[in-house]
Amino acid sequence: MPTLAARLYRLQQLDTDLDARRAQRDALRWDLQADPAVERAQEQWQQADAAWQQAERALRRAEDDIRRLRDKLRREETRLYSGEVTNPKELQALQMEVQSLRRRLDTLEDQALALLMAAEEAEAARRAAQQTLAQAQAAWERRRAAGQETLARLEDDIAALQSRRDAVWQTLPPDAQALYQRLRARRGGVAVAGVREGSCLACGATLSTAVVQQVRTSPDLVHCPTCGRILYALD
Ligand SMILES: [Zn+2]
Repeated sequence: MPTLAARLYRLQQLDTDLDARRAQRDALRWDLQADPAVERAQEQWQQADAAWQQAERALRRAEDDIRRLRDKLRREETRLYSGEVTNPKELQALQMEVQSLRRRLDTLEDQALALLMAAEEAEAARRAAQQTLAQAQAAWERRRAAGQETLARLEDDIAALQSRRDAVWQTLPPDAQALYQRLRARRGGVAVAGVREGSCLACGATLSTAVVQQVRTSPDLVHCPTCGRILYALD
């Protein structure tokens, strides 16, 4: 069986790898919950749809007004040219009424034309927003499908790493397990540091020749005098 320090170092490698993959998985899960681009496009589409409905309503109201006014004008013109009205005063009043109705009709028809153009613009904007939404949704679907595959791969990796980690963990005596956990909690997830070219690779401290020698040969665990981590010789 490898030395205790070697097993602890292996455990540390597996835990570091597990930490990274779990963080990656959590970030990806969060990412796959919703797409801000789709939400934005959805909002814009709703606004464009509401604006179009409003423009359509305004246009229909104007068209109703025009229809009513035309009916009224037709009735008044019929009366005017029917010969029924013979009183000159009444006739003059009727003529003025017909002229006034024609003027109002002209104004309303101009307004309706402007409303028609506005409604057409609103409809085009609504179609564009709908298309943007459909594109955003399609892109999101593709991204989500790819993300789900990555997520499944990550879950497999995590499960494999976890079982390897458990196997190493079971070979450790309880006091070494406790020490490892304590150091990992206090030292940013890194309890065991490699030593290369006389330096602690976790904190960067230069170690004395005596300490390096101890790390290489001592059957007991040796700690970095600077950061307190368990040391393991890599060269
Ligand atoms: Zn150190």
